[in-house]
Amino acid sequence: MTVEIVCVGTELLLGNIVNTNGAFLAEGCAALGLESYYQTVVGDNEGRLEGVLKTAMERSDIVILSGGLGPTEDDLTKEVAARVCGRKLVLHEPSRAAIEKFFAERGTAPTENNWKQAMIPADAIVLGNPNGTAPGVIIEADQARVILLPGPPNELCPMFENSVVPYLSRLTTQVICSQTVKVCGVGESRAETMLKDLIDAQTNPTIATYAKTGEVHIRVTAGAEDKKAAMKLIKPVVKELKSRFGNDIYTTEEEVTLEKAVADLLLANNLTVTCAESCTGGLLSARLVNVPGISDVYKSGIVTYSNKAKRRFLNVKKTTLQKYGAVSRQTAEEMAKGAAAFAKADVAAAVTGIAGPDGGTEEKPVGLVFIACCVKGKTTVEKYRFSGSRSKVRESAAAAALALMRRCILEYFSEVTFGKKEK
Ligand code: ATP
Ligand code: MG
Repeated sequence: MTVEIVCVGTELLLGNIVNTNGAFLAEGCAALGLESYYQTVVGDNEGRLEGVLKTAMERSDIVILSGGLGPTEDDLTKEVAARVCGRKLVLHEPSRAAIEKFFAERGTAPTENNWKQAMIPADAIVLGNPNGTAPGVIIEADQARVILLPGPPNELCPMFENSVVPYLSRLTTQVICSQTVKVCGVGESRAETMLKDLIDAQTNPTIATYAKTGEVHIRVTAGAEDKKAAMKLIKPVVKELKSRFGNDIYTTEEEVTLEKAVADLLLANNLTVTCAESCTGGLLSARLVNVPGISDVYKSGIVTYSNKAKRRFLNVKKTTLQKYGAVSRQTAEEMAKGAAAFAKADVAAAVTGIAGPDGGTEEKPVGLVFIACCVKGKTTVEKYRFSGSRSKVRESAAAAALALMRRCILEYFSEVTFGKKEK
């Protein structure tokens, strides 16, 4: 089955708003195993919308339209879709009552044009909208199934999840299952290189990589007659990924984040933890504190932004700062050791770097970050060079610190090998 997404709105064409609905719907359809070859953005113009819809219906089995279901003159998606599908618009009593109730609950009165939203193409399936007044519509036309959804994401997203996904799932006899393998400490291009042969040969399951800050997620998706059969197809691929990425895989579970993986390691081994941060300014601690239950092992952390603070709280030597600078391997190491002593923690991570946009030199450019991790007295320091804006550099540094913490803790407990190095 093929699906085509059409997002309607002149403000999308002008770049006034970002087409998040397009991305959301595309991802949702892909997860259902639907093929998609075209996606269109068209303005609030009757003639052009009609042309786009006719073309989409000729070449795709399912057409999903977003936007233009509102009460005003320029909202004309439903009218155009009804005409193209040869259906009259008729009053849908439950939708009329829902609109009445929506306004009554808010203590306001509907305007005359609101009733237009209760007019539905004859014989269409109506999708309730608990978050707004425009119902969604499914027209099962001869040529294609046409699905109309309201533009506001807070209305479109729940309607898609709650009504459209179950509808589309019933159309295909296939069940689509996926499993995500999450990798840290490996860049996206390296991950893709390591996967190239698998990606090139893929049919079912398919393999897709998603670059996240400091991580790569590899999603393996299979279609089969039932869940068990789909998982059976996925299993050997995940096994192959495990053999390729080794300990760089921090989880194969959807809901586990990198900070959760680190926190689980700390909690399981009863290791207390602290962070000493310069350029990340608390981002690393904040990520650890995202994890419920972390208070068992995380007692305190510290932001030491100035040289003075690094000396005063972390005992970084004046000579180290003078000789090597605040952004250096040596300072990072002393920060981690100082933090471990200061917080009396088993594990201490320290981050120092140049977040930019100013402050870089040829020798120490913007994005240069040193991260140290000390596990029970053994300290590892790594040098990184991140790119992007100030906030991107800071987020990348916090993610890299989590990955390094995880690596150092695992190395402390056993002689593990991380990933397979590229030839
Ligand atoms: P309304 O009843 O608000 O008029 P509608 O169904 O007619 O809803 P539009 O008028 O096309 O939808 O868009 C309403 C608002 O929804 C836009 O101003 C924008 O904020 C948001 N929106 C519309 N389309 C998209 C899109 N593709 N991606 C993200 N947001 C969108
Ligand atoms: Mg509108």
